[in-house]
Amino acid sequence: MPYHVSPDEFERIAGDALDSIPTPLRERMDADNLIIAIQQRVSSDDRDDDIDEYVLGYYQGGEDSVFSSSPYPKRIVLLQGNIERWCRTHAELVEQVHDTVLHEVAHYFGMSHRDIEQTRLGH
Ligand SMILES: [Zn+2]
Repeated sequence: MPYHVSPDEFERIAGDALDSIPTPLRERMDADNLIIAIQQRVSSDDRDDDIDEYVLGYYQGGEDSVFSSSPYPKRIVLLQGNIERWCRTHAELVEQVHDTVLHEVAHYFGMSHRDIEQTRLGH
């Protein structure tokens, strides 16, 4: 049974998760204009980009090549509906949002899944 919250509440929880990130890292994210976006579900554009329909969140980086600049800024997208699907209580939702935010921020800083496992940021 998914645990649902309003978009405002979800945004507040995501904000708390971001606040838990050490200030020097957050300052780099701010300086880079990293966007944290919340979507209810994966859009058809995302599916075109091979984003899994059930993913909890993903990081989309800008192209670093000088020949092709990405049409999008760097962003982390949280899929509210997919995260809620795994949670039955408010506490679980808070924990899952924190985990997802930290996981995607780790990707932003260039960490692979193996790196993330070793630092216990992800699952
Ligand atoms: Zn990942």
